[in-house]
Parts: sequence; C-alpha cells; structure tokens
Amino acid sequence: MKIDIVSVFPEYFEVLNLSLLGKAQEKGLVEVTAHNLRDWTHDVHHSVDDTPVGGGAGMVMKPEVWSECLDELLHLEPTTVTYDSTVTCDSTADADDTASADTAKPAESATEIAANADTVPATDRPVLIFPNPSAPLFTQQDATELSHANHLLFGCGRYEGYDARIPQYYRAQGVDVREYSIGDYVLNGGEVAVSVMLEAITRLLPGFMGNAASIVEESYTGENALLEHRQYTKPADWRGIKVPDVLLSGDHAKVDRFRRDEALAKTNELRPDLIEALDCSKLDKADRKTLMALGWEVSGTHPRQR
Ligand code: SAM
Repeated sequence: MKIDIVSVFPEYFEVLNLSLLGKAQEKGLVEVTAHNLRDWTHDVHHSVDDTPVGGGAGMVMKPEVWSECLDELLHLEPTTVTYDSTVTCDSTADADDTASADTAKPAESATEIAANADTVPATDRPVLIFPNPSAPLFTQQDATELSHANHLLFGCGRYEGYDARIPQYYRAQGVDVREYSIGDYVLNGGEVAVSVMLEAITRLLPGFMGNAASIVEESYTGENALLEHRQYTKPADWRGIKVPDVLLSGDHAKVDRFRRDEALAKTNELRPDLIEALDCSKLDKADRKTLMALGWEVSGTHPRQR
C-alpha cells in the first residue's frame, strides 16, 4: 500500500517509523511519504492560507496550493469544472456532487462501498482523504474498506480548515474523495486524525500483525460487531482482585461462552446501538438467551429493547 500524506508539519509523521507501522515499512508492506504542502507555494512567505470569503475569524487553506500538490501526486492535469454555487451543503456526499468535468466518472457512494467492506478487492484507484470534524465519523468499517486500497492520499487541514471546493473539484475529476471526522471534538490540525486513521487501516493489512488472529475477534469487528470482552493476564490474583474462575478452568467451550456473554453484556451497557444492529439470524441459542436476560426481544431481524 502506498500512502502519501500532505501537511504543513510533515515532521509530525516521523512517529510512523516506530512500532508495528515502522516494521511494516521495513518489510515493504506499506510505503509512507509525508510531503510538505509549502513545497508547492511560490511566494516568499510560502503561504498556504488566506482570509475567509464573507468575513469571519481565522484563515482558510487556499485551493491553488492544494491543487498544485494534489495534481502532481495524483498525476492529473489542471482543468475547469462547472459548479452549481447554489448548493450549500455538499461536503460529504458523492451522490450529491454538483460539480462536473469532461473527465468526471460516476462517483461511488462511501456507504455503498462500506456495506461490502470485506469483499472489496484491492484497487489501484487512489483514495483522497481529508480529515474534517464536520464530516461523517470514521469507523472500523471504513478502516476495513480502505485497507483494500493500493494508494491512499491524506490531506491535513489546519487553521479554519481547507477551501470547500478542493474535495468538490477532485470528486468531479473521478477521484474517490472521502472526508472523515475522528470524533465530536475539534483538533488544531488533521495530523492527529490522519495518524489515527492510518493506524486503524494499516493494522488490517495481511502480514502487518505478528499474529493475524488478533485482529479477528476485536471490538467493532466482523458482521455482528460487539465490544470485546474484558482481558486479563497473570497473576490470577493481583492485589486481591481475582480473574474469573472460568478462565482458569481449561474448558475452552466454557471460556468462549463466558467471553461472548461478557461482550454482549458490556455492549448492552455501553453501546446498545450495536446490539440493535445485530443480525438475529446470526445469533446462536445461547446468545439469544443472554440477550433476552438483558431485556432484548430477539424474534425479529434485529434485537429490540423490551
Ligand atoms: N473550523 C473547523 C470546524 O469548526 O469544523 C475546524 C478546523 S480545525 C481547527 C483544523 C483542521 O483540523 C481541520 O480542517 C481538520 O483537518 C482537522 N480536524 C480537527 N478536528 C478534527 C476531527 N475531529 N476529526 C478530523 N479532523 C479534524
């Protein structure tokens, strides 16, 4: 997987040389290049921002600098698109795209692709990703889907963000453009958000983890995703707190059932929305019994709270 990151602080990404991602780069599984957006400026101050049109506080990242950079990294020629400026809210939906160009291809819906996340084949079509606090939330499903891409290009925003026409323009060029938030809070820049997304995506690459099994049963993972059960290590009694006896029993079936019930109970308490999304046809008899004891009706397609 080739990963390009554009930022005004490319040094920030030196951290990616550490730990498992560093090893993955050494092994040739991923090739990460951090670019300095200021390398595409032409003025003495290397400025990448300007005042907001319409007034207001702060500065906005200029489209000209971004486009010179992105055109080069995406091997695109500059062009002019027709744009319907009457549409005011189009930052996240490919389907609502209002710009068009001769080269435009029908854009894929992120939701449609995500629905088939596990079956999406590796694709050479680059994916351009902008972190943005006012975009849809980045999820494990997005990470899974993006782990099938061969080329990811991340653009880190700063200041009040980037000019809204940048994603608009590249969608119109047929580029698969995504905007994602990593949570309901505002950071100073996209660098942290890109690191978060990158780690979630790359750890899913075949060969990335020493033990591939460790990414199979995790929180938010699989078709009937739950929060993971609690984990313990030795000693069995630590400062007076004992691990549950069943985990010491050596009875694997009982351990599996205990963990599954724990996962169901924890998810019920903290993320009932995940229980509501479960497919009842994929639940076994014991799952149903546990959920019913937790107050769920499991006779329909999805569990419903009684
Ligand atoms: N004015 C923007 C707003 O209120 O939505 C906030 C801009 S923020 C200070 C600057 C940049 O940080 C954004 O363009 C984005 O790249 C990044 N950023 C900040 N919070 C983020 C979040 N929760 N998720 C993803 N990116 C974020």
